[in-house]
Amino acid sequence: RQSFQFHRTSSFGAKTGRVPVGIGRRRLRIVVTGGAGFVGSHLVDKLIDRGDEVIVIDNFFTGRKDNLVHHFRNPRFELIRHDVVEPILLEVDQIYHLACPASPVHYKYNPRVGAKFLLTSTSEVYGDPLEHPQKETYWGNVNPIGERSCYDEGKRTAETLTMDYHRGAGVEVRIARIFNTYGPRMCLDDGRVVSNFVAQAIRRQPMTVYGDGKQTRSFQYVSDLVDGLVALMEGEHVGPFNLGNPGEFTMLELAEIVKETIDSSATIEFRPNTADDPHMRKPDITKAKELLNWEPKVPLREGLPRMVSDFRNRILNEDEGKGN
Ligand code: UDP
Repeated sequence: RQSFQFHRTSSFGAKTGRVPVGIGRRRLRIVVTGGAGFVGSHLVDKLIDRGDEVIVIDNFFTGRKDNLVHHFRNPRFELIRHDVVEPILLEVDQIYHLACPASPVHYKYNPRVGAKFLLTSTSEVYGDPLEHPQKETYWGNVNPIGERSCYDEGKRTAETLTMDYHRGAGVEVRIARIFNTYGPRMCLDDGRVVSNFVAQAIRRQPMTVYGDGKQTRSFQYVSDLVDGLVALMEGEHVGPFNLGNPGEFTMLELAEIVKETIDSSATIEFRPNTADDPHMRKPDITKAKELLNWEPKVPLREGLPRMVSDFRNRILNEDEGKGN
């Protein structure tokens, strides 16, 4: 059974009238799975802004209509409530696959179609890395039976399937390995460190540092990621490519920056760490720089304030909602 079919027919260009977009380019019809989510909705903004047609498929498991409401009156935008594990027939040119079902990867697609397929994989494929920083050639250090392995191994399997379709069926594919990303529209309470610290500092609660706080992560602002995804889709190279900001911080350093940004009286509180937490993570982005001509532009100290204003508004609305 094919659970995910996207068709691009030869009549597609005629159907859309080959409307020129920018200089010498026709309008593309693009599917973004998970387009109501944090990263997906920013990607949709960019694709709509540049003049393309966008179809979002989202089951709203973690995505929110609020993230897309500003496009609802746009005739170039469509939103379908749909779970990507079920079949759907659409005629499109490109597929950005951002939807990430919690279950093992169920997506498949008709290899005859001709749509370009971009998989958003993750830095978690490197597990608790023994190589630092991580290059795309590193095979990773993942515990196959751990609490995080459903995500890590799921994405590793997704990469495997993507490459199998590429090699075996000639599907044009792209693979991005996304490192920790933050920005406006991030879920308030899904437990990521940046969203936790920012929401806690705004609510005047202590910031919860897991473990000793000396583990490191590299935080990328969402607009840099979106630029990288589009450069990857449009470029000639399959990847995988690391998309992340090489600026590396301990969780204690991050807490300090959040404190400086939001509230100088913010405090921290230590909590036990989760199992199999990677000790360090930092992308080597040499490959993306050379082959995609991409590198992040927004450092943490610039990106964080942009996220904080969005969080303040949403937390304020939430509190008002509770009062009603
Ligand atoms: N973390 C933390 N406090 C929190 C949430 C997370 O100290 O409230 C730590 C977590 O243990 C991990 C790091 O922050 O070492 C990044 O966690 P996150 O879930 O944001 O991303 P991932 O582990 O997937 O990189």
